[in-house]
Amino acid sequence: MKTGKLIDIECQCGRLLFRYFKAGKGRIIKCIISHIHEDLVGLSRVSTFSKPLCPACGKELGIIMMIHGEPALKLNQGTIKGIRI
Ligand SMILES: [Zn+2]
Repeated sequence: MKTGKLIDIECQCGRLLFRYFKAGKGRIIKCIISHIHEDLVGLSRVSTFSKPLCPACGKELGIIMMIHGEPALKLNQGTIKGIRI
């Protein structure tokens, strides 16, 4: 069984964006879409290279890229609030 934990990813404005299953330790730079739980901003429906926005304040959350053949959100570190682990 994989070890890891669910982490709340929030915008700087305080809006909860999604919960992410993080395996191992370290900063979150990219979020693989299939590891997202409770996708509150519809990330599973956006296309590659689009830039999803925070539904509350309109800031860019990052950019969707293909990583190892899977779509992932590369986080905009300026928009995402410090991540609590
Ligand atoms: Zn926001």
